[in-house]
Amino acid sequence: MLNGLGRGYQTYLLYGITGSGKTEVYMRAVSAALDSGHQALVLVPELALISQTEKLFRARFGDCIALLHSGLSQGERFDQWMRIVRNEAKVAIGARSAIFAPFDRLGLIIVDEEHDASYKQDNKLRYNARDLAVVRARFQGSLALLGSATPSVQSYHNVQAKKYEGLNLWKRIEDRDLPEVTLVDLRETKGPRRVKPFITDVLKEAIAQTLGRGEQVLLFLNRRGFANFPACTRCGEPVRCKNCDVTMTLHQGANAFRCHYCGYSCARTVGCRVCGNPKIKLLGLGTERVEAKVKSIFPEASVARMDRDTTIRKGALLKTLRDLREGTIDILVGTQMVAKGHHYPNITLVGIICADLSLNFPDFRAGERTFQLLAQVAGRAGRGKRPGRVILQTFNPEHFCILTAKDQDYTAFYEHEIGFRRDLRYPPYARLVQILIAGKDKDQTARYAQALGEICRTLRSENKTYQKEIELLGPVAAPLARLKKQYRWQLLLKGLNVGPLHAFARAIKARADRETWKAGVKVIVDVDPMDML
Ligand SMILES: [Zn+2]
Ligand SMILES: [Zn+2]
Repeated sequence: MLNGLGRGYQTYLLYGITGSGKTEVYMRAVSAALDSGHQALVLVPELALISQTEKLFRARFGDCIALLHSGLSQGERFDQWMRIVRNEAKVAIGARSAIFAPFDRLGLIIVDEEHDASYKQDNKLRYNARDLAVVRARFQGSLALLGSATPSVQSYHNVQAKKYEGLNLWKRIEDRDLPEVTLVDLRETKGPRRVKPFITDVLKEAIAQTLGRGEQVLLFLNRRGFANFPACTRCGEPVRCKNCDVTMTLHQGANAFRCHYCGYSCARTVGCRVCGNPKIKLLGLGTERVEAKVKSIFPEASVARMDRDTTIRKGALLKTLRDLREGTIDILVGTQMVAKGHHYPNITLVGIICADLSLNFPDFRAGERTFQLLAQVAGRAGRGKRPGRVILQTFNPEHFCILTAKDQDYTAFYEHEIGFRRDLRYPPYARLVQILIAGKDKDQTARYAQALGEICRTLRSENKTYQKEIELLGPVAAPLARLKKQYRWQLLLKGLNVGPLHAFARAIKARADRETWKAGVKVIVDVDPMDML
C-alpha cells in the first residue's frame, strides 16, 4: 500500500480484529506519507479518542500535529487551521469536521473505526465524513485508509466489488488470544418470585474470580438510566413522554423520569396519568440499575459508571479512563461509550448484560449495529498480557448476529447479512432516500403526508425512467410516530442508480417547499440515511 503514495487515488479497507494493532499500521502509513513530502489527516469518531491517538502520534512525530474538534474555541480552531495553512502542522487528528482541513498536499486520509455512525452529521450540513474522505482522496489523488475491526457492510462490499482494496490483520499483537466467549441463555435463568436476575450465577461467579485475581471487570448494557419501563401498578399504563411517542426512563440519581429523545423530565412523584394511582413499578433495565445491583453484590469493589449521564461534565470521561488505567476502579458499568476503541489493558472480564437491545429495532441496519457493538465490546477483554473472557447474556442465543459476534467472525456475519440485503434490495444493493414529514398537528400532518405520497406516485407514473428506476414505499407513520411534539410520517425511495433517485428527490423537495407553508409541516430529505427511526 505504501508504494502507492503519491501515485494517485486508491482506497484501502484495513480489516483488523480487535487488539491487532491498527494504530501501528496508521503510524507507519503517516510516516511514509511525511517522508514522501505529503501531509496526512487522521479521523477518529469522537473527542474522547483524540487524546489517546494524539499521545501516540506526538511520541512518534513530535510537534507537527494539529488537533481539530468541536471542543476547541473559535480562536483555538483558527490557530490550528493557520498552522496547517503555513505547513507547520503536517498531520491533523480530528473528529468528522476535520475532513475539511486546509491541506494542499494531502497524501493520506485515515478514517479509524470507519463503521462508526458518528461520522455522519445529521443537522445543518448533512454529510458523512467517511464518504467525504473517499471523495476528497479521489479529488486530490491521495490514499484513503479506512480501518475497523467490524467494517461497515457498505465498505466491505466495496472490497468485494473491487472498488476498494482489502488489507487484513488476522492476529492480535504478540499473538495474544481472542477472549473466550461464553453464551448464557437468559430464557432459561430463573430467580425468586419469577423475577429474572440480570446478573446471572455464571456472570456473578466470573466477576468474583476476576476481582479475586486483582483484575478489572467491564459490564456492558446499551441503555442508561435505572428503569426504562416505569408503569402503573393498577392499570398498567406506562409513564410516557408528553412530547414523544416513547416511555420515559427513571433516573435514580436525578430522582426523575426523563425522555431520552427530547430531554423532557418530570418529577418521580407524578403518578399515573390515566387512573391517578400514585404507585409506579419500575420495570426494565439501565446502567444505573446494573451499577446499584453490582454494588450490593460486591460491596467491597469500587464500581464506576460510564454513560452520557456521568460524562456530561468536561473532563469526566478522561478522569474515568485514567482511574481505570491506574487501577482505582474494579468494575466499570457502561453503555456503547465503552465500546469505542478505548484500550483497557487490565480488563480481563467483559460481561454483556443483555445483548439483544438493538436487535429488534425497525431499521435494516439493526443486525449490523448489533454485531458491531457486541464484537467491539467483547474485544475490550484481554488486551493486556493476561487472557480475556467474555460472558454474553442473551434471549436469542441462536441468532446469527449473536453467534458470529461470539466468534468475532466478521466474514461469517457479512456473508449472512449481505444475502439479506440483496434479497430485500437494501444498501449496498440499492440507494435510499428518506423523506420525513413532520408537523405539530396530527391530522394535518397525516393529510399532508398522504398528499405528498400522491404527488410522488403521479411524478413516478408520468416518467418512464422513474418507473423503471425508483421504488416508492409509504407514506407510513414513522417508527417514532411522535418526537419533540411533532407527528412524523415517512416516505422511502429506493433505487439502484443515484442519478434518477436524486433527480426525483429534488423534484419532490422543490414541490414540497412550495406547499409546506399551507400545512405547517416541514419536509426533510435525507440521502443515504443512517437512522431509519
Ligand atoms: Zn394507572
Ligand atoms: Zn420526549
